[in-house]
Parts: sequence; C-alpha cells; structure tokens
Amino acid sequence: MEPIPLIFSCDTEDYETPASDDAELLWAQMFARHGIRACFCVVGEEARALRDRGRRDVLAALAQHEIASHSNMHSAHPTPAEYLDELSWDEGVQRFLTGEAPAVRDLRELLGQQPSAWCKPGNSWGSVVPYAAALLGMPVFCDAPFEWAPGRPMWFAGGLLLKYHTSFDRYFPTPDGERFEQMRADFEALLASRWEEAERDGRAPGAIVMYTHPCRTFTAAFPSNFTAGKNPPRAEWQPAPLRPRAETDALVRDFDAFLRWIVELRVNGRIVLTIYRELSDEFRQPPAPWLNPPAVVDLARELAVDDAPLEPRVVAGATLSPSEQFGVIAWALARRAVSGALPNEVPVRRLLGPVDAATGGQGPGAGERSGTVGRGGAPDSAKSVVAVDEVLGAAAKASETSSIEGAVPVQITLGRLALGPGRFLRLAARVLAHLAGGGSLDVRIAVPAGSDDAGLSNHDDFQRLRFQNTWSIFPPEFEGRRLIEQARWQTWSAKPA
Ligand SMILES: [Zn+2]
Repeated sequence: MEPIPLIFSCDTEDYETPASDDAELLWAQMFARHGIRACFCVVGEEARALRDRGRRDVLAALAQHEIASHSNMHSAHPTPAEYLDELSWDEGVQRFLTGEAPAVRDLRELLGQQPSAWCKPGNSWGSVVPYAAALLGMPVFCDAPFEWAPGRPMWFAGGLLLKYHTSFDRYFPTPDGERFEQMRADFEALLASRWEEAERDGRAPGAIVMYTHPCRTFTAAFPSNFTAGKNPPRAEWQPAPLRPRAETDALVRDFDAFLRWIVELRVNGRIVLTIYRELSDEFRQPPAPWLNPPAVVDLARELAVDDAPLEPRVVAGATLSPSEQFGVIAWALARRAVSGALPNEVPVRRLLGPVDAATGGQGPGAGERSGTVGRGGAPDSAKSVVAVDEVLGAAAKASETSSIEGAVPVQITLGRLALGPGRFLRLAARVLAHLAGGGSLDVRIAVPAGSDDAGLSNHDDFQRLRFQNTWSIFPPEFEGRRLIEQARWQTWSAKPA
C-alpha cells in the first residue's frame, strides 16, 4: 500500500494573547524535534505582534517550517466573507488584494518565505478568495470548504482547494488517560479509509491534513474581542483565558507521544510527510493546451444533446472544467464565423464561471432563469429554433467577452432569445457538430434542453452551503447570500486536480 501524504497545519492566530506566543514556540520546536516540517498558517497581525513583543525566538522557530497566510487580521471586522458579500466580483478582488497583500509582505519580511497557501479564518471566505490568493502567489486554499474527494484537491475559481480532515483540537476534552490511544485509533481508521478509497478508485491515496491551533494548548478559549460582530479599538482588546498549567502539560505529553508514533508510521512507509508547496508543485497545471479538431468535435457531440451534463470532461488527455469547455466551443465557432472554416487548433482558456450573476437571486437553483427576453408574446425558448449564422455571431461575441473578462458570460442573447451559459453551450456545440459534419449555414437548429447549473452545484456541500451561524465571529444576521450564489456559479470552474 502506498504511503498516505500527511500535512500538519497550524493556525497561528492569537495576536491578542501574549501567553500564546510560547505555545507557538512550543509547537514549532516539538515538530522540529521529531524531524517534522509542518505548515504554520500565520496571521499577518500575529507575525507583527511577535515582532513588536520582541519574540524573535518564536519567529525563528516558525521560520524553520512552511509558512502560509492565515489572513491579515483573522477575526477583526470586516472579515473577507463580510466585505466580499457586499461587493461585485471585480471590487471584491481588488479589496482582497489590498487587504491581504500586507500579510504576504510581512510574512516574507519576518519569516523569509513567500506564503504557500491561504487558510481561511473561521468560515470567512468567498469564491473570490482562491482566485485572488493565487494572484498573490498563494496557489493553495487550505481549510477549504470543498475538495474533489476525500484528500483530493479541487480546482475552483483558479485555486487549488484542500480541506482540513482531522485535528489535535478535537482531543482537548478527552480525558488524559485515554487521549493518546483514542488519537491513534482514530488516525488508524482514517488511514484505512484512504487506502480503501484508493483501492476502489485505482489511484494513489488522497492526503490527510491534520490541524491544530497551537495557542489553544495554552488558552482555555479563543479570544472573544470580535465575537458576533463586535469590533473594539485595539486598546480594548483582551487576551484569552489560560488553561491551568497541569492541563497544558498533559496535552503536550500526549501530542508529543502522538508525533513520536507518526514518526514510526513514516519509518514504516505508511505515511509520507508533505507540505502545501509540494502539493501545489505536484498539481501545477501546464500551459493551457491547444486542441486539435477531432478532439473539439468529439467534445461538441457530447455537449450537443438535450440535458448534456455540465461537468469536467477529459479532452485529448486534459481535464476541462465546464467553463473551459465553453471557452473552447465558443472560440472555435468565433473563428469559423471570421474565416469560414473550422480552425486547425483551438486554445483552452482557463475561464472562471459566470461572475456577478448573483445579485437579485438569479443564481443557479433560483428557478427558471434563462429563457426569453421579455414576457408574454415571446417564443418559448424550450421549443426555439435558431439560425446557424445567428449562433455564429453570438458565439463570436461570447468568445470575445470571455477573453476580456476571463469568465464565462452569464447570458448570451440571440435576437429576442436570452440563453444562460449552459443552454448556449449545448446550442453552440450542436451547431459546431452540424458544421463539422458538412452541414449548411442556411438552416435553423433547435436549442437543446437543459439547465445552466453545473452538475457539481447540485452536490450536497454546495446545496447545504451556509454562512449564518457557522462562525461565532460573524454578526448573527450575516447570511452571505451573494457568496452562496457566487460559489454555485463557480462550480463551472471546478474540476479534479
Ligand atoms: Zn483561525
């Protein structure tokens, strides 16, 4: 059995509690003593606080490990989810870039590393996050809300998403005499499930990410300065309450024993320690491929039927998201419109799913959306037929919009007909297949039936996606409605890594 990749991920965030600095030091040294390179996801403000409290020793200990960003200010309001919910996609990208760049700058300056990943504070994230974090040089979104399959990363909105799978923290309340045995038994069960999935899928096993909040080994609770939307000035920040010393000692003893056992697993070839940077190197995408005509026509034929699912497809050896498929078909038809012939090569464009479709409850699952422009008297789109040259014109426009915006358009108009991207993709594919088969320009083609929702948006984790009451820091009334709709639309950009 192949060894299971294991990442230890430490949320390093308690800038309000000076006593937590020693907890960060203890964990960084404990991992180092076992020869383990962990990842410390450090809040920008935490790195600055360590410097400003004179804790050069802690910074030096952390710098031996991989460094990721755990956001610039963690719980201070507004957190990324709170401001992203108020902004258009482009505004959100700009706000995230300016808000998070200081953390990247200070982590580089104080810890000597470009952070490899962005780790969400609590449940504060939006679809803009993986996209904009990648632009800041952080290709991995860790502690992500989704992944493709257990321990298998997902490409989503331009970032590589991987969840947290287990933790040290869940064993804080376990009685001292039982903790180590319980941790070992649970970890063995998790390893077994990864091997089982690997055998069933005929693939290498998925990874395990085990996290902790080092501060919580010393503190009895998280700081509560920003709970439920509170945002006091800096001078009023209070430290977290501390654990009794004996409690801390017992936790450290058991966690140290667990890490010693992990080293045995490594020696026995059952696990292999890794870090986020290695993961992103392993899954880095090559330059976008160009596809030859038979591959494009095969793709078009698959998409041209009623209710063809919008899902990742393997085309000429490359896995393409629904957005990428849209880009390919629209580009090929756009070239056909200009040159009069289907092109010899078609580029893949790594497009986002539709952005800014969300305002006004128009997201996927919001009911019948695409159809005819206007009401009454307009033809029923479900029975519509459209002239081939009209589709070519619309495809040229959609292809241009895709290139300019880097995203699939939310709506494509053909005369009085307004189609969502899913229905237009099937129609464009049908026209492409028709022309590739020698069909005439001078006919009308029926619009295939089907929805605009990528199949993934119907999966449980997207259907059940909520923000309200998911993190004690959010204001109680925070719903994140725009974020939910944006996430469902960005399933267009999703595919397995
Ligand atoms: Zn955190």
